[in-house]
Amino acid sequence: MDIKNFIDNQECIPLSGLWLENVNPAIGQVYGEIPNSGADDVEKAYQAAVAAFESWSVTTVEQRSKIMLKIADLIDESLEELAAAESKDNGKPLSLARRIDIPRASSNFRFFGHAITQFATKTHETTGKNTINYTLRKPLGVVGCISPWNLPLYLFTWKIAPALAAGNCVVAKPSEVTPLTAYLLGDIVKKAGLPPGVLNIVHGLGGSCGQAIVAHPGIKAISFTGGTSTGAHIAATAAPMFKKLSLELGGKNPNIIFADCDYDKMMDTTVRSSFANQGQICLCGSRILVEQSLYEKFKADFVKRVQELRIGPPDHPDTQVGAVVSAAHRDKIETYFAEAKNNPAHDNASSVDAYNILCGGKRQVVQGHENGFYLQPTVIEVNSNYCRLNQEEIFGPVVTLMPFKNEAHALELANGTQYGLSASLWTNDLSRTMRLTDKLEAGIVWVNTWLNRDLRTPFGGVKNSGVGREGGFNALEFFTEPKNVCIEY
Ligand code: NDP
Repeated sequence: MDIKNFIDNQECIPLSGLWLENVNPAIGQVYGEIPNSGADDVEKAYQAAVAAFESWSVTTVEQRSKIMLKIADLIDESLEELAAAESKDNGKPLSLARRIDIPRASSNFRFFGHAITQFATKTHETTGKNTINYTLRKPLGVVGCISPWNLPLYLFTWKIAPALAAGNCVVAKPSEVTPLTAYLLGDIVKKAGLPPGVLNIVHGLGGSCGQAIVAHPGIKAISFTGGTSTGAHIAATAAPMFKKLSLELGGKNPNIIFADCDYDKMMDTTVRSSFANQGQICLCGSRILVEQSLYEKFKADFVKRVQELRIGPPDHPDTQVGAVVSAAHRDKIETYFAEAKNNPAHDNASSVDAYNILCGGKRQVVQGHENGFYLQPTVIEVNSNYCRLNQEEIFGPVVTLMPFKNEAHALELANGTQYGLSASLWTNDLSRTMRLTDKLEAGIVWVNTWLNRDLRTPFGGVKNSGVGREGGFNALEFFTEPKNVCIEY
C-alpha cells in the first residue's frame, strides 16, 4: 500500500520522487512505500496552509466545532479499518488499537470540538480609573505538529485537534515508522468538510522533513512529542526564531509500591503499566520500586504474572504482547539485555552496576511470524538506581525492580533521574500520599491507578521530560496568542 502526502486536500507524491519503505513489524516485511519528503514538500504544505488561514481563522467557532465533531464520528465509523492499520504499522495488539488508540483519536477531536465552544477570554475592569481591559486570544497562523510512532493516531490527533479548533492551519508530520493512520486521516478530514489547506500531512524522515518544519521561518509554533535528545535539537533550532514550543519528551517513570497497598489491584495494574503496548508508552512505569517488607513476595508474584503474558501476532485475539515497532528499535532494546547479561549480579556483587534478569531478556520466536520483531517481557533486578538501565529510557518491554527502605529512600530513588514525566504511587496511607505527591518530581502523579486520563487535565513533564502542558484549555492557550486591549472611557 502506497502512502501519499496530503496537501490542500489532495494526495501528492513527494516532489523529489524519493520514497521510503514501510515495514510491518509483526512479520518483518516491507508492505508499502511512503514519501521521503523534503523542504520543498514542506514549503508546498506551508503555502497551502497560509492561503487557508485567512478564511479558517475567521470561521465561526460553531462551524469549526461542527467539523471537529464530524471528524470524530467518521473516525468512530472507521474504527475497524483504522485499528487494523495501526496494528499492522506498529505491531501492537489489534485489540489494544481497537480499545485504546482509535477511540482516543476520536475523543481528541470530540473533546476539542466541544472545548473550543467553552474557551473564554478574560476582562479586567480597573475600578476608579474608567478603564477596562479585555484579552483576545488569536490563532497563531500556521503551526507544526510532529508526533512519534508509539501511539500514532492517538498522539497525532492530540496535537492537531486543538490546533485546528483554535483556528490555526497545520503542517503535520507523523513518525515515518508508523504513517498509515495519519494517511487515512486525510480522507476522513476531507469527508468531514475541513477546507483545503487547513490540515496538511507530510511524510518523511525526522532529520529532513521534520527539521524543515521546525526550521521554517513562517511556522509559528511547534508541538512535538518524541525523545528528549530530539526535543533538545528542536528547541535549539526553533528558539532563535522565538517560536512557541510545546515539547512532550521521554520518561523513566517510577512505580512506587508500599506494603499497605491494595495488592491485587496494584499487581494487575503494574503488569499493565509495565508492558502495555510492549512497554512503548512514555507513561509506562519502567522503574518498579517496592517497599522492603513486600519485596520478595512482589518479586515472585510479578515474575510469575509476567511469564504468563501471551506474546503473539498482533491480530490474534489472545495476544497481550505484540511486536516492537522496528528492527532498529528491537536492536536498541537488546543492547540493554546485553548490558545486564555482561554485568550479572552474582559474579559482580561489588560492582556499582549489577543486574539479575528475573525473566525474559531474549527474542521470542512466534510461529508463522519468524521474521517479526518480538521480545520477551523482561524484568531485571538492579542494585543501584544510578545504573544505565535505571537512568536511560529503554522504551520497550523491560522493567527494573529494586527495594526501598522507607519513604525518604523511595522519594530519593523516584526523583533520581533526569526525567520527570509521571509517577505512580501505591499506598492506602493518606498522609503518606499527601507528603509524597507533594515531593515527587513529575508532571503527572497517579495514586492507586495508572493511565487514568481526563482530557481536561494538564499533561506534560518536568525536568528533561519536556516543556509546556497539553490537554484541556492548556492546549488551546498554547495554540493561541493573547492580545490585551485597554480602553479608558
Ligand atoms: P523521536 O524523537 O525519534 O521522533 C519523534 C518525531 O520527531 C518523529 O516524527 C521523528 O521523525 C521526528 N523527528 C526526529 N528528528 C527530528 C528533527 N530533527 N526535527 C523534527 N522532527 C524530528 O521519538 P520516537 O519516534 O522514537 O518516539 C519515542 C519517544 O517519544 C520516546 O522518547 C518517548 O518517551 C517519547 N514520547 C513522549 C511522550 C510524552 O507525552 N511525553 C508520549 C509518547 C512518546 P522520524 O520518525 O522520521 O525520525
